[in-house]
Amino acid sequence: MSKFDTEVVVAGGGPVGFMAALLLARAGISVALLEQEAAISRDLRASTFHPPTLDMLDTVGLGAQVVAEGIPCPHWQIRLHPTGERAVFDLGILSKDTKHPYRLQCEQWKLAVAIADAVAAERKVNVMFGAKATGFRQDDDGVVVDVTSDTETRQLRAKFLIGSDGARSTIRDALGLPFEGETYPETTLLATTTVQFNEHLEGLSNVSYCWKAGGNFALLRVPGRWRVSIYPREDMPIDDQLTEEAIEASLQQIVSRPERYDIIEKRPYRVHQRIVPRYGEGRVWLAGDAAHLNSPTGGMGLNGGIHDAFELSAALIDVIVKGADIGRIALYDRRRRPMAREQILAQSDRNRARMRERDDTKRREILAGLQALIRDRNQLYAYMLKTSMIEGLRQAAAVN
Ligand SMILES: Cc1cc2nc3c(=O)[nH]c(=O)nc-3n(C[C@H](O)[C@H](O)[C@H](O)COP(=O)(O)OP(=O)(O)OC[C@H]3O[C@@H](n4cnc5c(N)ncnc54)[C@H](O)[C@@H]3O)c2cc1C
Repeated sequence: MSKFDTEVVVAGGGPVGFMAALLLARAGISVALLEQEAAISRDLRASTFHPPTLDMLDTVGLGAQVVAEGIPCPHWQIRLHPTGERAVFDLGILSKDTKHPYRLQCEQWKLAVAIADAVAAERKVNVMFGAKATGFRQDDDGVVVDVTSDTETRQLRAKFLIGSDGARSTIRDALGLPFEGETYPETTLLATTTVQFNEHLEGLSNVSYCWKAGGNFALLRVPGRWRVSIYPREDMPIDDQLTEEAIEASLQQIVSRPERYDIIEKRPYRVHQRIVPRYGEGRVWLAGDAAHLNSPTGGMGLNGGIHDAFELSAALIDVIVKGADIGRIALYDRRRRPMAREQILAQSDRNRARMRERDDTKRREILAGLQALIRDRNQLYAYMLKTSMIEGLRQAAAVN
């Protein structure tokens, strides 16, 4: 009998963990996927998918399905509200670089369900809901993962462990890795409504980051709904800004209407900027939010996590299936960690800072600068490669 229960344990059944499980199983590797909750989360989280992520989804046969469930958005914009002055970024310029020259607006849970359905068709994956990874120990031969469920506590012996267990990662803690960085002071509010902002705001893109007097907000369209990210006022306690009345007032400031808004969902969230000093060691490696967290402005956290899943799976396939030395996995860290730090965290921090600018003159200078950039085809091309995450992936692929 094999001394292993499974070849890889994946701790955490978010989209990143499920994607890693799918890629490994398709390469013939057996996987036990542990998810502490009873089902896939349908929380309000990511809604923006960038072109290279969609290209990657094509390679596992999920691209067309996910695109059909969302809204392809060929442009996005930065806008001054209420005048409507704007800088509009057209992803069409990337048509030779990607099969998907657009951002896809689609709820994160739809992607998670699509990947999980594909995983369910794989004989090699044992998906265990209601199973929490509580710790591990590793040696040269393998890793033993402690698993707790309502009914039992057991151990799983595997060759490798992936910690894709999100922002509060148990696996990261068990590795003894600090989550270096900061938590921004503000709480942001996300609300959804069926009110169609594009029918009221002239020339609005489906992804629009907007300045308003004394504040800023983002309007993001998903099928049948708009998501509004409301950045809090600094002159009012946050709890007072989370009431139905306060949200209603914020939405009325965006588009004033005689009727009340139908606020379908709302969730406050804190924004972090954090990364581990290394992505793992030996037989235990982190991916997704367990390894890096960033501001959602620009929509890169989950995209980066899916890219992690592809890179880490490729490394594990080389080791487990093709017999490469275990040292091969360090390339995952060398490729993905600088990319997360220098591209994802740095860019999302700049995006956040730009939208938090409160000085009207400076805002107009930023807008004029962006409009000039858009008029210069070479500059626009470089900017779009970067903001669409293509440049970072190319840089990472060049690292040996
Ligand atoms: C409001 C908001 C908007 C966002 N918008 C975007 C966007 O537009 N684009 C983008 O790219 N990103 C966006 N993000 C970020 C994105 O949601 C995350 O990056 C993404 O969820 C990370 O996926 P993950 O699989 O790494 O982690 P998670 O989705 O957090 O999944 C981790 C899973 O692990 C499980 N788990 C935790 N601990 C254990 C354990 N010990 N054992 C077993 N299971 C465990 C959890 O229950 C969870 O299901 C947004 C985030 C927020 C909050």
